[in-house]
Amino acid sequence: MATAYVKLTAELDMRILLAEDDAVIADGLARALRRNGYAVDHVATGTEADAAVASQPFDLLILDLGLPKLSGIDVLKRLRARKSVLPVLILTAQDGVEDRVRGLDAGADDYLTKPFALPELEARVRALTRRGTGQPRCIELGGLAYDQADRVVKVNGQIVEMSAREIGLLEVLLLRAGRLVSKDQLVDHLCGWGEEVSNNAIEVYVHRLRKKLETSGVRVVTVRGLGYCLEKPDVA
Ligand code: CA
Repeated sequence: MATAYVKLTAELDMRILLAEDDAVIADGLARALRRNGYAVDHVATGTEADAAVASQPFDLLILDLGLPKLSGIDVLKRLRARKSVLPVLILTAQDGVEDRVRGLDAGADDYLTKPFALPELEARVRALTRRGTGQPRCIELGGLAYDQADRVVKVNGQIVEMSAREIGLLEVLLLRAGRLVSKDQLVDHLCGWGEEVSNNAIEVYVHRLRKKLETSGVRVVTVRGLGYCLEKPDVA
């Protein structure tokens, strides 16, 4: 029953190179990505990143632009000069508008501005690693439609405003539709670096999500003491 959705999480063979010199960010990212089933290799300098992508196959490069030894932009330029089509997601500082433009000009596929929420990163990574694999980027269930790349939720054709946390929560439940998701899994998924999400907060998010999905026919069911399960609407 949930097979169609299980396929969406089949990122298991995907290998990501993470080039980031900030140990705290790198650690948080690597853990989040591994939790999502990706194999992650980490390097902390531009020269290592350059050497790795030149010699090994990856499905995605997550590239901090402010890297020591060789800048992220130079890594990217060298990569594209070798005619590589490896998808590249660049990480830039908040005030790095020019960096971002230079990065996209140099051939980056997408960017994220630090600090960012993990669900946001995960959505971008999914969108980039799915490219060309023919997997749907839009999940539809009853009156609910969720565009994974743009992170837009529609109920009965109407866009529903949701916070990043609510969307993160919906994503986890949708990708595991018909299966139990424990509160701990949700807490784990929604936590960023140094952020705390309590069990009580999860209840609040679920409550809000339910209200927003009310007319879609999709239900978030509480499995007492265990967690939640997103149920498909009854086919009437
Ligand atoms: Ca850096």
